[in-house]
Amino acid sequence: MNEKTKVARLTSTYFLMGFILGLFLVAAAYAIQFMTASGEVFEGSLWDMVKSFHRVNPVLFLMDNIPLILAIAGAIIGRKQREKMEYLIELQELLRERDRQLRSIRFRYAKILEKTDECLFITTREGEVLDINKAGIDLLRIEALFGTIPSSKEELLTLLNERPNIAETVYADRKDRSLLFSKLQEDKVVSNYPLRLKRFDGEVFDALVTVSVEMSNEGRSLIFGRIIDLSIVKRAEVLLKKTNAELEKKNRELMDAFTKLQVLKIQRERESQELSRKNAELKRLNRLLAEMAITDGLTGLYNHRHFMGYLKREWERSRRSGRSFCVLMVDIDYFKAFNDKWGHQVGDRALVTIAKTIKSQTREYDIVSRYGGEEFALILPETDLNTCYTVAQRIRKAVEQRTILIKNREAKDCLTVSVGVTFFLPKEEDTRTFEQVLQDADVALYLAKNRGRNRVELYRRDILSETAKVIPIPGINSEE
Ligand code: GH3
Ligand code: MG
Ligand code: MG
Repeated sequence: MNEKTKVARLTSTYFLMGFILGLFLVAAAYAIQFMTASGEVFEGSLWDMVKSFHRVNPVLFLMDNIPLILAIAGAIIGRKQREKMEYLIELQELLRERDRQLRSIRFRYAKILEKTDECLFITTREGEVLDINKAGIDLLRIEALFGTIPSSKEELLTLLNERPNIAETVYADRKDRSLLFSKLQEDKVVSNYPLRLKRFDGEVFDALVTVSVEMSNEGRSLIFGRIIDLSIVKRAEVLLKKTNAELEKKNRELMDAFTKLQVLKIQRERESQELSRKNAELKRLNRLLAEMAITDGLTGLYNHRHFMGYLKREWERSRRSGRSFCVLMVDIDYFKAFNDKWGHQVGDRALVTIAKTIKSQTREYDIVSRYGGEEFALILPETDLNTCYTVAQRIRKAVEQRTILIKNREAKDCLTVSVGVTFFLPKEEDTRTFEQVLQDADVALYLAKNRGRNRVELYRRDILSETAKVIPIPGINSEE
């Protein structure tokens, strides 16, 4: 049942009680009237008598209405009562609200106090401890006082305050307390005041203390304070220094490793450079080797093997493309006698000179080789017979005109060459093999030797007679 229903019931109860009381009073008044009507004989019913009373007695009229009057009075009283009740209910609600607020404030205060890592406390000026948080209990090692920490804060505070001068015992030097309090007297707030404090297990430590004095509602001076344990800071500093030193060491190691890495990198780069240099050298040597494999060591011309390979390829190409090519065999005349006269070494130098002379009379893509001993073989690709003959004559003349200097110009001599020429013209259905082509050049050379040396002869078995009697090819005058 709520408060308003209660009030409504109360009002109607008062009304009903007034009405019943009024009825009762009226009934009593009538009874008295009836009994005191002395000697008077009343004719008629009781109701008639009541009616007659009314006519004569205004008091009785009033009495008749007493229940109503009392009921109204009851209702008025009931209403007043209700107002009073309502006021009380409001007051109750207000109180409950305040209580809730207070509890919430207390809860938050306790949370802040307990959850913070800093030691916070409240004492009276006289040194009674009113509150201290968990961090404070731990910092001052209150446990050392009792063996264990009492389960409730109230119990802990009671036990603490039972100890004489409990607040004073925290100072390593008790004089510090009076110093701090005289400072507090002046400033109301003392911030981060350096003090040497003592934990309850006896350990002395450096701390920074902040205290302020506030008036409570009851007019008591309360000290609100905070303690910062510098030993933790110092420990942290030491730890930090240690960590820093380790970090520096690691840094140095890292730098060393980095430097080593750089050195290695440079070394690697050098090695790589060296490797590419060696590779280039290797390539160069390979090229040289390849060149050496196809060149003659004395004259620098292509060697016999390369010549033969090239001849075969050119012969195949010519058969495919139908383009002609010529082969020249060049042999130094009476070279044995030259050697005998001047010696083998001079002979070698003469070979080199003649090789250069022959080469100088050819095109870049002509193949000039040392066929063997004092013999040279040439392939002139895509060359017609006329041109080939001209080249052969040019070579012959150039050698003839070339002076061979003997032993640093002490003497000089001359040499001549005989040249045998053949040509390959597939369009005319040249059926010779490349070996036969070479043989034909050799035959031509043989003819040149036989006909007196220092001359050029042409020979092609499929055109010339098999008797090897040289018949001049039309348009080419082999007889100079
Ligand atoms: P011909 O006119 O008939 O060719 O007479 P020739 O003396 O040149 O011919 P022969 O074949 O009788 O002699 C060739 C000589 O060439 C023999 C050798 O002493 C010489 N000869 C061959 N190869 C070399 C060489 O590499 N160096 C030197 N110095 N002489 C060589
Ligand atoms: Mg020879
Ligand atoms: Mg010779």
